[in-house]
Amino acid sequence: AVPLVVAISTSISAQKGLLIRNRTAFENARLITTIVFDKTGTLTKGSHELQEVKVLGNGFDKNELLRLASGVEQHSEHYIAAGFLRKVKELKIKIPKAENFNYLPGKGLEGNVEGKEIKVVGPNYLKEQNISVTDTTNDFTGTVVYILIDKEVAGYFTFSDQIRESSFEAIQILKEASIKNLLLTGDNEKVAKKVCDELKMDGYIANVLPHDKLEKVKELQTKGEYVAMTGDGVNDAPALAQADVGIAVGSGTDVAAETADIILVNSDPKDIANLILFGKATYNKMI
Ligand code: ADP
Ligand code: MG
Repeated sequence: AVPLVVAISTSISAQKGLLIRNRTAFENARLITTIVFDKTGTLTKGSHELQEVKVLGNGFDKNELLRLASGVEQHSEHYIAAGFLRKVKELKIKIPKAENFNYLPGKGLEGNVEGKEIKVVGPNYLKEQNISVTDTTNDFTGTVVYILIDKEVAGYFTFSDQIRESSFEAIQILKEASIKNLLLTGDNEKVAKKVCDELKMDGYIANVLPHDKLEKVKELQTKGEYVAMTGDGVNDAPALAQADVGIAVGSGTDVAAETADIILVNSDPKDIANLILFGKATYNKMI
């Protein structure tokens, strides 16, 4: 006979856009006390649109920065990369070849373009390398990525993104169920605060590195929390594995999906909230 929970989890997954990889995950979902969300592509749409190119160093103009960045970004599947490539296409800029490109998980990527060493990275990379950028003209609240040419910061790009409609409902449902929610993002402080405030979340930590995500999950567990975590990248895999319930978000990488207990097929955070409620209700009926 098929155990009841397995039968139920199969049927809920079919209806709700959830793929349950680990048969105890559905049972465990009702035990969750804290959910740690990543931001990009989970609570937000990942509809990154390039807003501004800012030149910080000398010698490169905006389109040149965009062109060099697109050389490495063509190898990335991140939402940011898609934003770069749409803009470059619109401006009819020819994308140069990149050699020796390398992912910097959760931070960006690097490669050689026309003999120059190019890095396109987030603020967490700058923090890790103790590189400070002083630019008082940046009052933009959104995603900012930096371009380093031969190790010098040559400029930055700003991208807008949007909060998913269903994220508001998801956080509301979790609040009503007294489940704490936290935002943990590799993105910058300003945008993290904005998303946290708009969604009325319990808290946020910005500029995190992949390792920080893992440490935060462990810290919460030490305090007695039963932790679920969402993630979509290679960088999230260690934290997803550490979480009591790891949730890989739809369009993410295979690595994240392989580590997770649950796959959120439609990338809809409301599906997680509903899963927990459904898990609680089902369990209560069974006992
Ligand atoms: P989150 O933690 O919010 O889910 P991600 O893990 O997707 O965000 O990315 C973390 C940060 O890494 C981004 O905010 C960005 O700064 C940087 N990053 C990731 N991929 C790229 C890329 N292809 N180009 C530039 N920066 C990137
Ligand atoms: Mg992510």
